[in-house]
Amino acid sequence: MGILLGCIADDFTGATDLCEILTSNGMRTIQMLGLPEEKFLQDLPTNIDAVVVSLKIRTAPVNEAVKSSLAVLDFLRKAGCRQYFWKYCSTFDSTSQGNIGPVADALQDALGVRASIVCPAFPENGRTVYQGHLFVYNTLLQNTHMRYHPLTPMLESDLLKLLRSQTQRLCCLLPFQDLNSGLDGAKKAWTDLEKKGCVHIVADAITSQDLHVLGELCANHKLVTGGSGIARGLPANFRKQGLLPANNENSLFEGEGVGIVLAGSCSAITLGQIHTFLSRYPGFMLDPQKLSDDGEHLKEAVSYAKKCIENEVPCLIYSSADPERVGEIQKELGRENAGALVEKTFASIALEMAQHGVRRFIIAGGETSGAVMSALNIRAIKIGKSIAPGVPWVATLCDDPLFFALKSGNFGSPEFFLKALGIQ
Ligand code: ADP
Repeated sequence: MGILLGCIADDFTGATDLCEILTSNGMRTIQMLGLPEEKFLQDLPTNIDAVVVSLKIRTAPVNEAVKSSLAVLDFLRKAGCRQYFWKYCSTFDSTSQGNIGPVADALQDALGVRASIVCPAFPENGRTVYQGHLFVYNTLLQNTHMRYHPLTPMLESDLLKLLRSQTQRLCCLLPFQDLNSGLDGAKKAWTDLEKKGCVHIVADAITSQDLHVLGELCANHKLVTGGSGIARGLPANFRKQGLLPANNENSLFEGEGVGIVLAGSCSAITLGQIHTFLSRYPGFMLDPQKLSDDGEHLKEAVSYAKKCIENEVPCLIYSSADPERVGEIQKELGRENAGALVEKTFASIALEMAQHGVRRFIIAGGETSGAVMSALNIRAIKIGKSIAPGVPWVATLCDDPLFFALKSGNFGSPEFFLKALGIQ
């Protein structure tokens, strides 16, 4: 029947979140990490409905982000996908240069699409869009902890303003009033906006019902852009078209074997999860300033992890710090340097610990996860059981797999790390 949905995600945990949504809605999905080699086309399992390719382009230079996205699109087209999805974060993580707008522009051109939806909303996770303004629960995006994000501080909640700083194309709003009357009203509003020459159509969505209408609206759109919320509606479209069976066999696994937690996210949620862990067990705090001095600090971290494994003590290594501390470090080392240094350190720790027999990695942070997976040279993973909404277990495709919980900074309950380690 061929692959129905081909997705390009701007980071790893976002991609995993999307995979979980598609899997739990009956699409057999694999996630590929980084641009797949063309020869992988022959090895693609035949029984899959969706492929999600995760890139690490959220903060890449615009040209690089566009080039990689187009290369992935090319792969997905050769794989015969019917519909394409450009996945970004539900908090619209990006800089004023890009990359959400420029990648959407490039994908539209490559696919010959005149207009596409922009829909980061995910009401179930508290992300709603009202009159084009993005809220996280009851707070405008710009007033949340996202304003202190180490790489993509979000200081603006108006999606149209954000998008207009990233693209020259006409950006318009599909307001929630047009969703109230259901699919027909939404379709009419969409057609009117298209007639006006609108190219990027930011959709309001306050409730899951709004998202449902938007999902249906996108049934025949070649290109859909958004967070994973809008993707929830897509499997039903394929099912209605008779392209997806009502029940797909999905055997869902959980992580197994010796596990460690590596936390590089500085989000408020991750800081809370670290706090909960530390209230019961010790942990090792990585200090980026010490890391920049010499290799000793990394060695200390690795030997700490090895000792934990030997003594069967739960292991957490974290660089996460509050905004004030992150600000100080960035002042000293530079924002990008500090991020890259910490990511590289986690990658080295993971590599060493995998060689030391660790089978289960619980990683907090999208960029952090990306760095670890690429250090381990993992190119494709399958999706297992959910640990928390948006965070499934994933495993490498080989016979003796490594298991990962790749957690976007903002996801999971305070006990997440304990739960993933099986010691809650
Ligand atoms: P999230 O999912 O919360 O966005 P990410 O891992 O994507 O988390 O991003 C966090 C970024 O912050 C990474 O680049 C990481 O290396 C960097 N970082 C982590 N700890 C610190 C720190 N103490 N100081 C400065 N930057 C840090």
